[in-house]
Amino acid sequence: MRNILVGLSALVLLASLVNSHAQEAPDTIYLNGKIVTVDDFFSIEEAVAVRGNTIQAVGSNQEISSLKGDSTLVLDLQGRTVIPGLIDNHNHVVRATEYWPNDARLDGVTSRSKALEVLKAKADELPPGEWLMSLGGWAESQFSDSKRDFTLAELDAISTDRPVFIQSVYDHAYGNTVWFNAMGIPLSASKHEQEKAEGLASYVLRDDQGRLTGRLNGGFAMIGQAIAGFPPVAAEKQAAAIKTSMTFLNSIGLTTIYDPGGMGIKQESYERIRQMAASEGIPVRVFHTLNGDIPRRPEQAREFIERIKASKPFQGNAAIDLLAVGEIYYGPFHWDNNLNHVTPSEDDIAVGKEVLMAAAAGGWSVQTHAMQPQTIDVLLDAFEEVNQEYPMRHLRWTITHADNISPTQFERARHLGLNLQLRSTPVLGNRAAIEDKFGDASYQMPPLRQVQESGIPFGLGSDGTKANQINPFVTLWWAVSGKALNGDVVTRQTLSREEALIAHTRSNAYLLFQEMRLGAIKPGLLADMLVLDRDYLSVPVDEIKDIRPVATIVDGEIVFGEL
Ligand SMILES: [Zn+2]
Repeated sequence: MRNILVGLSALVLLASLVNSHAQEAPDTIYLNGKIVTVDDFFSIEEAVAVRGNTIQAVGSNQEISSLKGDSTLVLDLQGRTVIPGLIDNHNHVVRATEYWPNDARLDGVTSRSKALEVLKAKADELPPGEWLMSLGGWAESQFSDSKRDFTLAELDAISTDRPVFIQSVYDHAYGNTVWFNAMGIPLSASKHEQEKAEGLASYVLRDDQGRLTGRLNGGFAMIGQAIAGFPPVAAEKQAAAIKTSMTFLNSIGLTTIYDPGGMGIKQESYERIRQMAASEGIPVRVFHTLNGDIPRRPEQAREFIERIKASKPFQGNAAIDLLAVGEIYYGPFHWDNNLNHVTPSEDDIAVGKEVLMAAAAGGWSVQTHAMQPQTIDVLLDAFEEVNQEYPMRHLRWTITHADNISPTQFERARHLGLNLQLRSTPVLGNRAAIEDKFGDASYQMPPLRQVQESGIPFGLGSDGTKANQINPFVTLWWAVSGKALNGDVVTRQTLSREEALIAHTRSNAYLLFQEMRLGAIKPGLLADMLVLDRDYLSVPVDEIKDIRPVATIVDGEIVFGEL
């Protein structure tokens, strides 16, 4: 027995020697950096070697230099910090690609005056006839100088020759005179005319003389009607917009997103991205759910079940793949909001469970939108029943948002192998309603610290592009500082910088079933990395939100910036 073991280990040794001779020199080595690997030990190294699209080695300058071959490109990081490419676990950007060229993003903007500058600059750069939009991701409450409404005069100062429509999260919006004209909404209206107004006109806020203020109220319903009036987008135009949106994501440090569809999503958008990935490659990995119009009635849920049965997850590659059912698969069963939990009937619960059973039977992961503990209890009851039929731990079902999850629910979640996707929406500072309703407890939402200590797998994301801003460094900053963009402390449970970074990289890779490919800088994983303009681990906390990549590397290629 002993001889056999000795013989075996000699063979293993021989094999590994042969292997190291066969190992070819790296294509690129990056030296003189601070490589924050986010591996299991959170190791910090000096240098990294990349061959093809894969990390080949990480180590000291000396170790990595010794791998250099005749054709190896040597890049000097000049002391810069390198982190794994950031992964947003909940980002509706695929839907946003349609109007991306028109969209003036206000991600992370901290003042009202700066917001006006961004809008004006974008209006000035657009071709004639194009609308200027700003489709959510911001709220006036994020500004530290003034939170007052935008006025019609201000919107007209942005443009007098193109329609301007800007939307504050999903709550309200503003238009300029050209837009109101295009929508057939009169500049002034008598009391009587205002009472008779229908459609979009019924949401318009007017002053006591009946004149437009520029503002429209009415939340989802108003925004849905406004979208119906947007100009159509040709296929080629959207294809080009997909590229520019991905370049933007690279510019803020995102290399992977998990897209859950959303109201108004066009399914052909995924097909377009899939074709692009196959023909020319894409610089952002797109994992997405099986989604569509939100099933609201049992018949619609059953149609959705047929789609679940006809589709298969995990069929793609590392560029685009379908992972889970969600985030909403039967509205009445689980679609709650910031303030209210669902109150489904027995029948609704039965329909929700039918969808879940079909998903589990087909080997699907499920991503469920839920914010309130009562809603989460409805889900946990259903999940436990499904689990008796189809044990689900290996399917990594996920509760997305979970802003108000109760620590009393952790044990049940742990038992089922559930994961949490937490989001940085508090960063917008629009918390008046939740503070009214929940008082001091609103500062514990989401319970970042308690989730971290519970051991439940969780990751950080945005829930952009409309409900929130999408800059991952703003999300990291919020998780570490607990602050909103306006400077107020809004979240009392915070994470260390290391914990936050793990939650935005390695933990999200796990949520996406990609931990063997993504989420850390270590040999064998895909070479997705960010070279930063400053050191995430040591800059003053309030600078974390301003960090930008000098270079964004995906699959071993620099896709944004330069070195
Ligand atoms: Zn949601």
